[in-house]
Amino acid sequence: MAGSAPSVSRRLLARLRDVMAGGGTSQERLDKVTGLIAADMVAEVCSCYVMRAGEVLELFATEGLKKTAVHNTRLRVGEGLVGDIAAHARPLALADAQSHPYFAYRPETGEEIYHSLMGVPIIRGGRVIGVLVVQNRTMRHYTEEEIETLETVAMVLAELIVSGELVGRDELVPVDGNALLPLRLEGVRLNAGVGIGLAVLHQPRRVIRQLVAEDPEAEAERLRDALAEITLALEAVFSRPGMDAGEHRDVLETYRMFTEDQGWRSRIAEAIKGGLTAEAAVQKVHDDMRARMSSVSDPYLRERMHDFDDIANRLLTCLADGAESGSREELPADAVVIARAMGPMDLFDYDPARLRGLVLEEGSPTSHVAIVARAMDIPVVSRAKDVLGKVEPLDPVIVDGDNGQVFLRPSEDIRDIFAEATRQRRLRAAHYASMRDLPAVTRDGVGIRLMMNAGLLLDLPHLHESGADGIGLYRTELPFMARSALPDVAAQTLLYRKILDQSEGLPVVFRTLDVGGDKVLPYWDRREEDNPAMGWRSIRITLDRPSLLRHQLRALLRAAAGRDLSVMFPMIAEVTELIRARDLLDMEMAQEQAAGRPLPASVKVGTMLEVPALAFQLDALLPRIDFISVGSNDLAQFLFAADRGNPLVAERYDPLSPGMLSFLKAITTRAAAAGVPLSVCGEMAGRPLEAMALIALGITTLSVSAPSVGPVKTMIRSLEAAPIRDYMAGLLDRPEPSLRDKLKSFALDHGVVI
Ligand code: PEP
Ligand code: MG
Repeated sequence: MAGSAPSVSRRLLARLRDVMAGGGTSQERLDKVTGLIAADMVAEVCSCYVMRAGEVLELFATEGLKKTAVHNTRLRVGEGLVGDIAAHARPLALADAQSHPYFAYRPETGEEIYHSLMGVPIIRGGRVIGVLVVQNRTMRHYTEEEIETLETVAMVLAELIVSGELVGRDELVPVDGNALLPLRLEGVRLNAGVGIGLAVLHQPRRVIRQLVAEDPEAEAERLRDALAEITLALEAVFSRPGMDAGEHRDVLETYRMFTEDQGWRSRIAEAIKGGLTAEAAVQKVHDDMRARMSSVSDPYLRERMHDFDDIANRLLTCLADGAESGSREELPADAVVIARAMGPMDLFDYDPARLRGLVLEEGSPTSHVAIVARAMDIPVVSRAKDVLGKVEPLDPVIVDGDNGQVFLRPSEDIRDIFAEATRQRRLRAAHYASMRDLPAVTRDGVGIRLMMNAGLLLDLPHLHESGADGIGLYRTELPFMARSALPDVAAQTLLYRKILDQSEGLPVVFRTLDVGGDKVLPYWDRREEDNPAMGWRSIRITLDRPSLLRHQLRALLRAAAGRDLSVMFPMIAEVTELIRARDLLDMEMAQEQAAGRPLPASVKVGTMLEVPALAFQLDALLPRIDFISVGSNDLAQFLFAADRGNPLVAERYDPLSPGMLSFLKAITTRAAAAGVPLSVCGEMAGRPLEAMALIALGITTLSVSAPSVGPVKTMIRSLEAAPIRDYMAGLLDRPEPSLRDKLKSFALDHGVVI
């Protein structure tokens, strides 16, 4: 940025701005622009090629080449130097272009007299939409600064090209034969639900027009103002309703910490002292950080980079127009926001009343934006590959969070199907809400305890809305995963107390930390394992790191002081593991008592049954526990030796097989004989047909995700338990891989709503 180049760039950019804002057609403006660039960069030629349908680069304007070549000279992507720049999306600067092996001579242009060439891709939304070239007669050695200048100019030109006046919008859509055709993209569900609306492209990256500052003190002042502004905006978000607690608050606390990071702030201040504008300084420090982070493979750190992207973009926005979110005014009434990645604050820029869904190219279930989106109840699909390259602003979009898919420009049929499904969904939701206070009891009077699974404070309101009988599984690891550091005893106590408070006396089963496998703690030193599901996870970790478990148990005891506490240990494979975990609990209780702290009114201890080996130790196990809960997700994968996360085998075996059901029947009978309550808390319990099968086995407590409470209760209230029990008894020795069809027919014949 030293020397005279930035001032050239500044002068040029100011003139370009005038041309772009001036009158005339787009073609006339483009003609003027090439003239300006050539003059300013002291080049005899400046040409602009625009990408057309079929991956062809067409000469759209030139200063210096023969005008008759305009709209006649065309190069395929990959053809010639211009085609090479487009194919690799990278600049080229050659003192002797004609001797380059890729040089493709086009006689109609008269370019044979020009020896040197510098070209840059014109990029928009991560896609090459054209190429900008300058040429000189002499063998000129273009400098890095000149390349940068041309790149900056190309950013400005991109806006002109996508305006839709030079080439039709249909040609600007990527050319894979699908231009403007409906598209379906596979992704990963980050939040369930269906959203229908018009695409709003989240492209917060700003073009920095002024790089060099006259007055560093004034720039420092602007930076201070912008920082103060984002702090204010953050405070405003913190004071919104529903922001007083929860994981979404935690992620914003982390975000606030980043904005207050002194190292980061002083690096920007240094860059300003070095002569950059506040914008350029923010961008430079951010680019440096990005470059350093590009080699980092740790997914947690990569996620945090999105927070910094968000902060940098926000600062640039404040600096550019002195107002937060100035560009968000034209949000359609039904908006689906599409972004490469997002930081947690970004989402708050959009009016929640108009936000119908979010589609991301990057982002994992633990990403901060996902947690915030869940709090706002917006369907989210991530890993939608290259969605930004395939969508145009205001394209109709359907986000199907339930199935992790996105429809771009869906046909009328698809739109009708989803609109109808959404209507049905609303009707069903209203029906389930009306059943909230009705008991989950079969037609022949068998009462079922219908509990809910939870894992975030955000889930708690569903407990009362759904009418569940309590929380049968509280996955304590989820809040651990949402934070940037291990929560200490005090923080955990606070969290568990809130859960108990919000449960208003309904029972809550706290499962101790079940991390490892696919549940990664960001701050945990992970080791690579060939088979993490069977590796160092869950109770194995917490028994090897007993202080972790003791802190958690201590927090649970304190949170439940004077109330009932239920603690459940996960992944127990061996009775001694349960005994050791229980010993730690006893030790903590004794210490609390010795310190004069109040204990819970009662403490119940249970275990998950998800490792088949435990089923063969029931004689030793049952007398030592107060309850047992079957984790059918893990149990099924271990029983069938089929990885639950591997799509090739995950659905190969049906939990409604005689094998799995016989296994469940055997442990249910044993637990009942020992007087130990048994429940099922895996996903299978939440599917009405499977829940019917479990009831047929004699299981009377089910713990299901919040959206499943209504459907399962509806099934229960339409079922007669005795006939299905009898029917099931005759099926368990059938040599069939699945009883699904038989059970379905039974349900249909007997009016069971599944
Ligand atoms: C299970 O394995 O069924 C279970 C409930 O635990 P998680 O899904 O949390 O592993
Ligand atoms: Mg499990």
